[in-house]
Amino acid sequence: MKKSYLLLLVLLFPLMAGAQAISIDRVNPTNWWVGMKNPKVQLLVHGPGAGTLTYTIAYPGVKLVKTNTVENPNYAFLDLTIAPTAKPGNVQLVGKKDGQTVTQAWELRARDKAPKAQGVTAADFIYLAIPDRFANGDPSNDKFDDLRDPNMDRSNPFFRHGGDLAGAAQRLGYLKDLGVTAIWFTPVLENNQPLTNEGGTMRASYHGYGFTDQYNVDRRLGGNEAYKAFVQQAHEAGLRVVQDAVYNHVGNTHWILQDLPMKSWLHEWPEYTNTSYRYQPITDPHAAQIDRKITLDGWFVPFLPDLNQQNPYVANYLIEHAIWSVENFGIDAWRIDTYMYNDQPFMNRCNAALLAEYPRLHIFGESMVNNVIDQAYYTRNNIGFPFKSNQPGGIDFVLQSGMLDALKQPISYDGGVHRFYQTLAQDAVYQDPTKLVTLLDNHDQDRYLSVIGDDLSKYKMGLTWLLTTRGIPSMYYGTEILMKNFKDPTDAEVRKDFPGGWPGDKKDKFTPAGRNARENEAFNFVRTLATYRRDHKVLHTGKLMQYLPENGLYVYFRYDATSTIMVASNTGDKPATLPTTRFSERTTGFTKARNVLTGETLENISTVALPAKTAVVLELLK
Ligand code: CA
Repeated sequence: MKKSYLLLLVLLFPLMAGAQAISIDRVNPTNWWVGMKNPKVQLLVHGPGAGTLTYTIAYPGVKLVKTNTVENPNYAFLDLTIAPTAKPGNVQLVGKKDGQTVTQAWELRARDKAPKAQGVTAADFIYLAIPDRFANGDPSNDKFDDLRDPNMDRSNPFFRHGGDLAGAAQRLGYLKDLGVTAIWFTPVLENNQPLTNEGGTMRASYHGYGFTDQYNVDRRLGGNEAYKAFVQQAHEAGLRVVQDAVYNHVGNTHWILQDLPMKSWLHEWPEYTNTSYRYQPITDPHAAQIDRKITLDGWFVPFLPDLNQQNPYVANYLIEHAIWSVENFGIDAWRIDTYMYNDQPFMNRCNAALLAEYPRLHIFGESMVNNVIDQAYYTRNNIGFPFKSNQPGGIDFVLQSGMLDALKQPISYDGGVHRFYQTLAQDAVYQDPTKLVTLLDNHDQDRYLSVIGDDLSKYKMGLTWLLTTRGIPSMYYGTEILMKNFKDPTDAEVRKDFPGGWPGDKKDKFTPAGRNARENEAFNFVRTLATYRRDHKVLHTGKLMQYLPENGLYVYFRYDATSTIMVASNTGDKPATLPTTRFSERTTGFTKARNVLTGETLENISTVALPAKTAVVLELLK
């Protein structure tokens, strides 16, 4: 008798435990706002048995339209509509099953009036930094024992170095002084990834491209509070903030991947399949489907699983997170990682949803292509592609290549500076090429100064082009203090700490005293030109007219109704005297000029003296 009673208990216990175990541990988005243009939001609700509950919401103005259940009973996806009349407050999600009731509060906030989504335009100058490598303002957040990677070691190029948002916030004055108007950090969201073995060395996810929770900024950078404070301080200083988005993949320890809602959340392959890192199968009208599938659905690397953006729950999750980020933190623009490997109809949907809420927001994706036609495919273009991208901007790797060739190649009929000129000559393919973000290098490439042979004259010429031709210029951190290196043996070589960003650093290159004479010359050059650019509208919105290069001499103008800027470059090794008669279409009516870089006045502009490997910037005067 006693024995069978015990047996009954043993048999019942799992059922009782199972029944008791239903709970909700996460709701994403973590909150929402009243008064958004789109009244719909889909909540991802997770917890043991959360998908087996019958949900109700009794909150004025909030309607539960549909409860979606999926393969995994631990998820429910709740479709809500939020009426404009709804008041901010705590919405109670009530789930019931077999007499059990589970409740979960979910906050509906009022939208704040703080500036947000101001965009970045050709009036801006973007500074790209890796927060872990820029400045450490809070040594107390350098490492946490409860994270999968509890290390911090500045002597190891592959480990985290402790830089954070507080450190960057302390350098806002430095950036503003340099003439920077917008900051783009590599991703700031939580990367609670373990060290991964890459090519035989253990590496940390310090770069930020392996998200493990979209709704938390990494604690080692300071968390959500530090990010919100950073954006606010940047805005107060007149700087805008670009967030780096990754829609294509997540870290393999992302919390959702520990308990997948459904098999189709990811692109699963019978055997591990890497993306080909080739974009041609997407743009090529002759491409085979299998090549397209491998490009799009192959994984970026084994520890960054590929999200299936054709799954509507995944798509909603990513889009809502993007909107949540703009509204919550007030960011002004999105840079989108690996734009080409995303499902392009999804990208259009995501871009459209963001722009519907925030019309001034700028969006520019990374599409590392080698020609203008393919660059155009991924932005608003004038070509008859069967797929029409709605992306407003993009990163102009083709123009980058043209500028670098102009600095590296000898003078020839088709090479050298013709590569720069010819790229711009194809701008007709773009609906608005001024919305493209231009660059000389970035965190994935050999540093600019090394690429051009550590030549300060070429350095200045290339930066002059970057800051005076069309587009939105971006510069990688440290370029202004002559940081250099090739990615040899690894990209850690181009991601070194900014000297002076850490307490106790021997040199503080954020200050003139910490920089040597050559570094100050470079810094002052960037500052002079960036400040001039910032203050002169003609370099933001003025038209561009370029003249066919001759013997390595290249001349272009930026002009509007009130100003004309002449940029004359000598890419050769010998000094030249440039007669200006040929440029009368733009110079007629002007007699003098002010050299923007030296401040000198040229009393006569019938000829312009051009030292070897030099670009001069002349503000034409009557
Ligand atoms: Ca720190």
